[in-house]
Amino acid sequence: METIVCIECPNGCELEVEKVNGEITVRKNRCKRGVDFAKAELLNPKRTISSTVKTVFPNVPVLPVRVSAEIPKARIFDVMKEINNVCLDKRIGKGEIIIQDVLGLGADIIATSNILKTL
Ligand code: SF4
Repeated sequence: METIVCIECPNGCELEVEKVNGEITVRKNRCKRGVDFAKAELLNPKRTISSTVKTVFPNVPVLPVRVSAEIPKARIFDVMKEINNVCLDKRIGKGEIIIQDVLGLGADIIATSNILKTL
């Protein structure tokens, strides 16, 4: 049995999770979302990333970005390497794609600010 904290809402339930003969049992969850979260954490944990990319513009040296969808937790460092390799030379706006389908994971890296368009 292992204990994991559900991050689906501010309650932060400490879930007791057990896998026996391929069957996952979850206890101490206050709602069904905790069961879904625990199963996903055991089988295929995913996370979002927010970060920044470099730009060539001296007045805006970095631009905030995020992934457009959750990615496998195990690939976070690989995706961060891709993000760190970017140096933007176009004045893109909020929601525009910087890296499409990063590493084939089904998520884009998108801008979360219009600062390059306004400065
Ligand atoms: S189990 Fe339900 S109530 Fe508890 S933290 Fe998760 S979402 Fe919130």
